[in-house]
Amino acid sequence: MRSHLTVFAALSLLACAPGPAPQAALPVAPPPVAANSVAPPPVGSTPPTPSTRWALVHASVLDVAQGTMTPDRAIVLDADQIVAVLPSAELPSVAPARVVDVGGKYVIPGLWDMHVHFGDPASPKAFVANGVAGVRVMWGNPKFGPGMDHIHFDMRDAFDKKQQVGPRMVIASNIMDGPKPIWPNSLGLGTPEEGRKAVDDAKASGVDFIKVYSLLPRDVYFAIAQESKQVGLPFAGHVPESVTVAEASDAGQKSIEHLTGMLVACSSREAALRKKEKDFADKGDHSPAEWRKFHRAQAAEAIATYDAQHAATLFQKLIANGTWQTPTLTVLSAMATITDPSHAQDPRLQYVSTFMRRSWDPSQDFRLKSQTPADYAAARAELKGDVALVGAMNQAGVPMLAGTDELNPYCFAGFGLHDELELLVKAGLSPAQALRAATLGPARYLGHEATMGSVAEGRVADLVILDADPLADITNTRKIQAVVSRGVFYDRPALDKLLEDVKSTASHPQFPGGGG
Ligand SMILES: [Zn+2]
Repeated sequence: MRSHLTVFAALSLLACAPGPAPQAALPVAPPPVAANSVAPPPVGSTPPTPSTRWALVHASVLDVAQGTMTPDRAIVLDADQIVAVLPSAELPSVAPARVVDVGGKYVIPGLWDMHVHFGDPASPKAFVANGVAGVRVMWGNPKFGPGMDHIHFDMRDAFDKKQQVGPRMVIASNIMDGPKPIWPNSLGLGTPEEGRKAVDDAKASGVDFIKVYSLLPRDVYFAIAQESKQVGLPFAGHVPESVTVAEASDAGQKSIEHLTGMLVACSSREAALRKKEKDFADKGDHSPAEWRKFHRAQAAEAIATYDAQHAATLFQKLIANGTWQTPTLTVLSAMATITDPSHAQDPRLQYVSTFMRRSWDPSQDFRLKSQTPADYAAARAELKGDVALVGAMNQAGVPMLAGTDELNPYCFAGFGLHDELELLVKAGLSPAQALRAATLGPARYLGHEATMGSVAEGRVADLVILDADPLADITNTRKIQAVVSRGVFYDRPALDKLLEDVKSTASHPQFPGGGG
């Protein structure tokens, strides 16, 4: 969610920058000297150990599933794959060409930010420099201009081919909303037929999942759910106001973003609150300020009538149906505290493009311009309710994903994921659970558990090497000594170089191609 002009400007730069020279990927230490040109071994013989192998030794390796550290391991890598994890002493048996001694430091899987928007040209390297190996883009290829219908595909292509440094990407469809959509350029869908066609078109375009939004009418939502199943795409997003959380979960919604609908769904007065909302909506058009006031009152009542028993029943349904939660506490907290002057002092602002920084000023944001101190007080009270809800869901075992809503005010690319991990721990997750929400959780959610999300044989070569133990203190994920992304090793100086590049991209007063 972002002001459209800025997204357009940002994305158009990425789309239209004149033939960027492929950026060197800075393979500072190890890997690959390209394989030599000797003849392949005869069929049936044992192949020689490839010379492209390299290893990290004396590493404390996080077992994400167990939430424990295993000391003194060697991790053997080859191109974009972990080929073995074994005691350091046994390393000679696999004889890698090159070894990096990490001296007992802590190795965790590459992190995923499971809710981003990715429209700032400074972002790609900021993700990698912060150990964020992958992102889930929640509004795929927004059509803000000619050629933009494949902008995120183009980015993914450039990153995957290593023409540019950037994270792995999972990409949503365009936002599917009701006939009067909240965001211009999203899809306004009024009938089940339109819903089914939108899913078919999205499938044909090659997206990874369908994004559903707040104003979808019931029949359109259920048509989208059914058609998604039909074409084999997951659907995820906001729970529309026209359906209950239980209905969305039963319909197969794969993840719920920003806890949409959750506070009301956990209230003993769920039915009454929903009726109130319908009656209010039926009364005709209301101004955004009126809607805001109404929603604040609803949230306050929902929090006051939180019903642990009712909530527990819902949580069990979410677990049984495999419905994940992406609380995005980073954006919820930023939006509730945006008038706090400390935000403007955040040193990480130097890594955000100038035009974006300007748009983060609440007086420039159409959603925030007219907010009153009373609105912010209510938002902070709601945030408390949200944080408590995350704690309760975690205790019940509801599966959780770490996501920031990057591109929204003070949701920083890369850095923000570490904010989210910290907020999740404050909400009651253990450090191990928070780490799982950014590693193994995303792998399971995406159906890629065999190839990513843990430090084990057969997984992709995405790793973060930390100076201090993140299980002892989650803020230690910020103490990054080195990163392996797509098999490329970045030591601290290489990461600092990436951040310098981010700063220099960010410092353009406006986009070289225009816009602003
Ligand atoms: Zn979002």
